[in-house]
Formats: sequence, structure tokens, C-alpha cells
Amino acid sequence: GMVMKRLEDYVRSIPDFPEEGIIFRDITSVLQDADGLALAIDSMQKCLEEMDVDVIVGTESRGFIFGVPIAYNLHKPFVPVRKKGKLPCETISEEYDLEYGSSVIEMHKDSIKPGQKVAIVDDLIATGGTVEAAVKMVEKLGGEVVKIVFLMELAGLHGRDRLKGYQVESVIRYE
Ligand code: IMP
Repeated sequence: GMVMKRLEDYVRSIPDFPEEGIIFRDITSVLQDADGLALAIDSMQKCLEEMDVDVIVGTESRGFIFGVPIAYNLHKPFVPVRKKGKLPCETISEEYDLEYGSSVIEMHKDSIKPGQKVAIVDDLIATGGTVEAAVKMVEKLGGEVVKIVFLMELAGLHGRDRLKGYQVESVIRYE
């Protein structure tokens, strides 16, 4: 009979990218297959089933790829978290540490209304720094982060430890 491919079978792992010693988990191989794409979005959306969510927040740029179809399916608004300098209206910003140096992400001030229930979506959690910064901004705007969903989790980097107290779910876990 027909064997269904699992989601993890669509992810391509690239050794030594972007630097030596890193195994890069590539989702273009998921996206470029119609079944892979549907499975990825459906699996992430399932993590929000029966949840009371007002807004989907996605982080640049792969968080947009998954966040928008989920928001569309649930008929909820989508709010982008962008790299510094991209958003045209009044913003709040948050700095977070990278392996070398730091980075700044921004959100529009009017993108979240106080009291709104927010789900944050991204493709992958490594150290958790990116999403932690997004959580801080959502909360500064008065939003309540009720769920954080990743397609992939690099569990060995313990990014979850930075998100204690939040409901965190990932579809694929790499040790
Ligand atoms: P963190 O802030 O350390 O959790 O890094 C997460 C961010 O880095 C996410 O936005 C990912 O898109 C990106 N990232 C880190 N490693 C990988 C990888 O192996 N594949 C795809 N994206 C990655």
C-alpha cells in the first residue's frame, strides 16, 4: 500500500551550514512539496486546536511562511515581527543576543491591543533568543502569549528554558 511520508522526511539537513559544525535544518524541501507544505501547516495549526487565540504573530522571515496560512485558516489577523528598520509606522523594539553581537527586532505599536490572546509562530527554536524577544514585545503592548508553536526544535540548545511559564509546542524535535 501507499506509505505516507512523515513531516521529518521532508526536512533536509545540511551539514556545515552556515558554518562548520552546524547542521542546518532546511525547510525549502518541505515547502516545495505540496504534501510537505500541507502537512507542515496542518501540524502547526493542530497545536492551536480548541484554543482561544485572537492574533497570530510570526517572526521574520520563516515565521511568516507558516504564520500567515494558519492565521488565514483560523480567520485571525497576522502580525509580523520584523528586523529593525523595516516597519514604516511607530514601533517598539527589542534587542537580543546572537552568538556574536546582537540583533534588534520590531513590531508596530498598534499591532496588538491590550488583552488580546497571542500565539507566536516560527519555523525553529534554537537558543530561544528570537522568540523570547518577540514575547517581550507582545507583552509590552499588553498582549497575552497563550501559545508558542515551532515546526522544529533543536532540543540540545535548551531554548525552552528561556520560555518557562509559556505553553511551547514543536512538531519535530531534534536532540
Ligand atoms: P534562536 O533565536 O537561537 O532560537 O534562533 C532561531 C532563529 O534562527 C529562527 O528564526 C530560525 O529561523 C533560525 N535558525 C537557526 N538555526 C536554524 C536551522 O538549522 N534551520 C533553520 N533556521 C534556523
